[in-house]
Amino acid sequence: MDKKEILFPFPDFRSIQKEMIKEVCDQLENNHDLIMHAPTGLGKTAVLGPVIAYAKQHKKKVFFLTPRHAQHKVAVDLIKMIKDVYGERVYTVDFLGKKHMCSLIKPEDTMTSGAFYNLCRHQRQQNMCDYYTNFSSSRKSFERKALFKDLRFKSPQHAEDMKLLSTQAGFCPYEVAAQMGKKAQVIIGDYYYLFAESVRDSLFNRLQINIEDCIIIVDEAHNLTDRVKKFLTFTLSTGTLDAAMSQDQKYGLGLKDLLATMKTKLLALKQHLSFGEQEQRITRDLFMVDDSVIDELELAAEAIVDQEQQNHFLSISHFLEGWTDDDEVGFLRVVQLEESRQGDPIIRISKRCIDASKVVSPLAKDVHGFILMSGTLTPISVYQKMLGLDHAQAIEFENPFPKENELNIIYPRTTTRFEQRSEAMFEDIAIVCANVVDAVPGNCAIFFPSYALMAEIKQRFETKCKKTVMAEVRDMSKEEKAAFLEKFKRYKDRGAVLLGVAAGSFGEGIDLFGDFLKAVVVVGMPFTRPDLETQEMIEYFNRKFTGNGWEYAYLFPMITKTLQNAGRCIRSETDKGVIVYLDERYSWPRYRKYFPRDKQIKVSLNPVKEIQEFFAGKKS
Ligand code: SF4
Repeated sequence: MDKKEILFPFPDFRSIQKEMIKEVCDQLENNHDLIMHAPTGLGKTAVLGPVIAYAKQHKKKVFFLTPRHAQHKVAVDLIKMIKDVYGERVYTVDFLGKKHMCSLIKPEDTMTSGAFYNLCRHQRQQNMCDYYTNFSSSRKSFERKALFKDLRFKSPQHAEDMKLLSTQAGFCPYEVAAQMGKKAQVIIGDYYYLFAESVRDSLFNRLQINIEDCIIIVDEAHNLTDRVKKFLTFTLSTGTLDAAMSQDQKYGLGLKDLLATMKTKLLALKQHLSFGEQEQRITRDLFMVDDSVIDELELAAEAIVDQEQQNHFLSISHFLEGWTDDDEVGFLRVVQLEESRQGDPIIRISKRCIDASKVVSPLAKDVHGFILMSGTLTPISVYQKMLGLDHAQAIEFENPFPKENELNIIYPRTTTRFEQRSEAMFEDIAIVCANVVDAVPGNCAIFFPSYALMAEIKQRFETKCKKTVMAEVRDMSKEEKAAFLEKFKRYKDRGAVLLGVAAGSFGEGIDLFGDFLKAVVVVGMPFTRPDLETQEMIEYFNRKFTGNGWEYAYLFPMITKTLQNAGRCIRSETDKGVIVYLDERYSWPRYRKYFPRDKQIKVSLNPVKEIQEFFAGKKS
């Protein structure tokens, strides 16, 4: 392969990377979509090079979509290298969420997205935002042209740098990015821009581009199913109706009776719950309203848009748009009974998407090219089916890191299986965890299936472990997470233990290279709660995939979470680390067969000895 032709800017190909890039080139040339399991270390972002080369030749636009801010940086840096090495200028725009790009918002502001959008709309409509008015002002055309010239010259740039330049020049960075997007050859952004239908439509309208002219690369694609389902989920609660009633009273909007009727209807749905039951399936007709109701709510939302950061009329009309849509296949409608902090009952109804292929499959067929990649897309055929990508080429690449740098152990004497949970079992788990982490020379992380289980074991573990223990708490902000990790890293020589939840803040998406993390313990199996949604998904996929519902809806999401947790340990070719799977079920063939084929895992009753020998450099 000619490195210049495929815009590969590094001196050498990493092991297996060449094979992966060749695959991407072949599939693009043959007009095939591609789904790849590409473990950490393969350097998969480098596929951007050949995709850009192809897109330039065929006049297409590339979207690089990722849910992680850190990956935006990796992609921009790669395009910078292409420019430095080959002098190839690739006009790129890096989109963060609008809130993160806004000149008026400081990083420490903790405003919700909904509140921010209202604020932005208010600022624009009242001509209060100079950055916005400048952008469309003819008096500023000279400065605007100068800014675009500068940005074009400096492209590719990180979103933060572009934001700084735009703000200094007096223009709204988001508007600037949207304008750049029209001409950009590469757009980097969140899944949201393509997979949330309304956002996509308005973005494509604005950029004046056609979906058929785009090549989409979806990074970290194991997240796609859950994210897409969220984009198509609509919820309404009695709490929202109460809040809307307060706004109605405050502004005299005259919708008191309408809101009261809706609340009565919502409360009446409680009758569908049996005694002690928290959630139940319901049908669309149980909460229907006339179309005119949506119109009235939209008018009310419009009337207070300038006054309120949280516009409850907007939330209700958005919910009704989704709820009244009669598409039932792949959706679930639920009524739930909850309790407020004050102990009052709350009724919540939702229409939830349980099948992401409804969005992904048609989109993949519409675009010019579709490439999905992640380090945890195994078994790949499952993801193919779940996302409706049967037509795509599916490839699993091997882990490129030296096998001898990684020790994987299953300890089969404990379990978090519900029927075997007991004080004695929690005590055993705490003892094994303490022994394991004390045998590791450095930092360790222990992941639990839930916060409740973490709390149970933490109190026992802390008294046994010699290392400093740091436990995550629910709903940590981005800043809190960053501060937590910085503190954790400082312990790399003495050794600390991070206690986290499999699907929490640190279970995936963090890179602790080298000595920052030497071992991961996965306690139990991080299954999703077997609630109504999970059960409905099992039944739905049983019908769709002839009897494999349990695997698709319940087992595979757990395997992905486990592998993501385990994957925190080895992030580079030189990292050396231990992963302990602490549950007897990991040794059962029905679970073990779904682990990647190239993962060498041994069952051991003496993990401490194995770990000591591993770090002492003895072969085991
Ligand atoms: S128009 Fe731009 S700068 Fe102004 S509030 Fe909205 S995002 Fe912020």
